[in-house]
Formats: sequence, C-alpha cells, structure tokens
Amino acid sequence: MDFDHTISRRDVWDSIVKTCAPDVWLRVIQRYIRGEISSRECNLELARSIRVPERQARELAESIGIDPTFHAFADWVRAHESQMLILSDGYDYYIDLLLRNEGLEGIPRYCNRMVWTGDKIQVEFPLYRKECERDMAHCKCQHVIPVQGLRRVYIGDGVSDTCAASKCDFVYAKRDLLGFCLKNRISHCPFEDFQRIIVRETEWFEQARAGAREGS
Ligand SMILES: [Mg+2]
Ligand SMILES: [Zn+2]
Repeated sequence: MDFDHTISRRDVWDSIVKTCAPDVWLRVIQRYIRGEISSRECNLELARSIRVPERQARELAESIGIDPTFHAFADWVRAHESQMLILSDGYDYYIDLLLRNEGLEGIPRYCNRMVWTGDKIQVEFPLYRKECERDMAHCKCQHVIPVQGLRRVYIGDGVSDTCAASKCDFVYAKRDLLGFCLKNRISHCPFEDFQRIIVRETEWFEQARAGAREGS
C-alpha cells in the first residue's frame, strides 16, 4: 500500500516544498507535468533547489499526520494474519517519523531515501527500476510477487501506485489511482478512509470462509 495521501492525510514531501519554497515547487512541478522531466529528476531538482531547516520540515510533517482510521486497519490486518507492506515514492525521513509517532514502526516499508545536512537535503532512489513501464523514482511493482493461494490487495491514490496496483488482485483507490482503475477496467473499490476497507475486506474473508466450508 501507498503512504502519502493514503496513510498520511496529505502528500508530505509535496507539502514541505510547497510551503517552504512555493516558487521552486511551481517551476519544477510544471516541468514534470509537461513531461519534460521524470519523477526522479523532479525530486532531485526539488531537493537540490530548496533550503529548509529540518525542524521546520518535521513540524510540518507532524502537523499533517496520519488518517486516524489507519490504526483500526493495522489492527485488522494483524488480527487476520495478513501482511501489510508500505510502498512509497516518498521518503524514509518523514515516513519513519510519522509511523514512530503513532507506534506503528513495525510495519515494513520500502521508499526513497532522504538525508539532511543542516538545511540541505540529499535524496537517493535505491529502488528505481528502469525496466518498469512507469518511470517513477521507486518502482513499486517489483514488490508484488505472485504467490500461489495469496490474495494481493493494493491501497493507494496516485500515479506512482499504478504499476503495482495493476499487478494485484484487487485495488482500493482514490484520486488519480481511481481514474486509472476505471480507465483500465481494474477490479477496484473507491475508498475515502480505512473504515470502508475494513468493512469490505471483512465481507471478503467471510465469503471465502463460507466458500471453503461449502467446498469441504
Ligand atoms: Mg500517494
Ligand atoms: Zn514498477
């Protein structure tokens, strides 16, 4: 599942840049939207162009926080012996911070790297894969491994989620990912918060259990 604007209430890195350097944000994002630069180049350029004291970024990230219904979902996953993976095209810096603040640091996460030196930011993309059909900084679909008998569900909201979502068995989608699922006829359900997902997944589990009973 995705992190920014899925678990977190807004896109954290985007909000940091937009708040601290609105002119840089506008200039670089427009080049990205026009297709002149890739997501990786866009992120490198943003990091290179801004100066933000780490404390200011931290306060901003903490003020965004996570969707309060996510706790119930994390509990649900644990209770149903399912596994959750966070796949983010954002950064370890604020993902770890927000998860730790919520006592959720045990959830495995794969994301890009961010290192602060004073008010300078350096970013790295160890999970970039040039062979992916989506040219994102972090190719999320490399983590979607087919396993016999396992149902894989994706939860997300953005363009960076599309390569992984299209390779899963079912998708919970909002915003851009919802449009992508509709356009590509991917089996999905719209969601606004995790309560909706809990209800729908509980139904799925009950049906699967009933099916298994009938089958035996
Ligand atoms: Mg997102
Ligand atoms: Zn991919």
